[in-house]
Amino acid sequence: MENTILGIHHITAIAGDAQRNFNFYSKILGLRFIKKTVNFDDPGTYHFYFGDEIGSAGTILTFFPWGEGIQQGRKGSGMATEIGYSVPVGSLDFWIKRFEQYNVIYNKPAEKFGEKYVTFLDPDGLKLELIESKTADTRKAWETDEIKADVALKGFHNITLTLNNIKPTAAILTDIFGYTLVEQEVNRFRYATFAVETAAIVDLVELESEKRGHVANGSVHHVAFRVNNDKSLMHFRKSINEKGYNITPQIDRQYFHSLYFREPGGVLFEIATDNPGFTVDETLENLGKDLKLPPQHESKRKEIEAILVKIN
Ligand code: ZN
Repeated sequence: MENTILGIHHITAIAGDAQRNFNFYSKILGLRFIKKTVNFDDPGTYHFYFGDEIGSAGTILTFFPWGEGIQQGRKGSGMATEIGYSVPVGSLDFWIKRFEQYNVIYNKPAEKFGEKYVTFLDPDGLKLELIESKTADTRKAWETDEIKADVALKGFHNITLTLNNIKPTAAILTDIFGYTLVEQEVNRFRYATFAVETAAIVDLVELESEKRGHVANGSVHHVAFRVNNDKSLMHFRKSINEKGYNITPQIDRQYFHSLYFREPGGVLFEIATDNPGFTVDETLENLGKDLKLPPQHESKRKEIEAILVKIN
């Protein structure tokens, strides 16, 4: 698996109120809250991580909750517009009842590529989907008192990017990342990597005259792809550079090591390593319990804690 992209690592989005974001993802959707930290580039704001028990790559959804009153994002081209989660076959009825109970906005079930799914919005307007995957998903989901394994979210199924022209983005996926066009329905082109069995799909939707979207509240900030180690990460840095794209140096994100580049369709892509993982600064049992700060911000803990609103 050296020098191979191993599907999606994590997806990062923007939210408004921190407590509301925490409640929605950990309580209503039942994901494990695996890390409470700050935006390393803006330590006065939180960075929340939700995932499975250990924060496995392909299950990690993260948020920058910027607080109330921030500008609302606008869906459009050059954006990741839908986040697809894999759920067990037969679980959509449970989720529809739950969405009714918690006043979650959702659409009635539909089907694409032979898979039944439900689209819904989080409290900030971020668009997500629950998809009954037609391929086996043996990942062990995090369970809560109300959400057991027979219905729980297993991790990502796919991410959808909306683009004016899919060609340059598709070339990144096929020529650099090792993805293959596997299916097409009208203007939706499904790309997948065979290197992994789950979180392996990227859908490109082509809308030629769609206005450029605006990334702000309720939208995806970036999509991170997974590699297994630093050596593989640097392999991709070289190949992306050689294609003429600007890419950052390796950045230490405490829980993984990263590179960022803007793909030609306008979406911010990251490549992130499996190492060192989320248990680097707290035990598996205690993941998400305390505010964790990276070494560069630890000396300012008091000031940072004073700014952040408490969540529980
Ligand atoms: Zn990221």
